[in-house]
Amino acid sequence: MTTRTGRRRGHVPVRRCLGCGERRPKGALARFVASPRPEGHRLARDADGTAGGRGLYVCLRPACFERAVARRAFQRALRPPGPLAIDPALGSTLLSERKAGQWPVAEVAG
Ligand SMILES: [Zn+2]
Repeated sequence: MTTRTGRRRGHVPVRRCLGCGERRPKGALARFVASPRPEGHRLARDADGTAGGRGLYVCLRPACFERAVARRAFQRALRPPGPLAIDPALGSTLLSERKAGQWPVAEVAG
């Protein structure tokens, strides 16, 4: 049982996937950031989680990435929402990250 006010040391941060909407430990999700460009924002993979700005999270599943793109969830998650250039190839990089074993694959099975 957890409560909203039940924060404690060592608590695992949880984020919601923009594709399937499931909440998962932050470490089981891929973090993206909207990187400012002269022509607008561009979605960039933040592999080590250190890039500034608001994090945009999806499961390490290309399907979740694609769904988030199809739903324009990345654009809507921006504050404020706005145009965002997305390289579709970013989705397939998630699969290679899983294969590389950098991530707790069991957490994102399926
Ligand atoms: Zn997902």
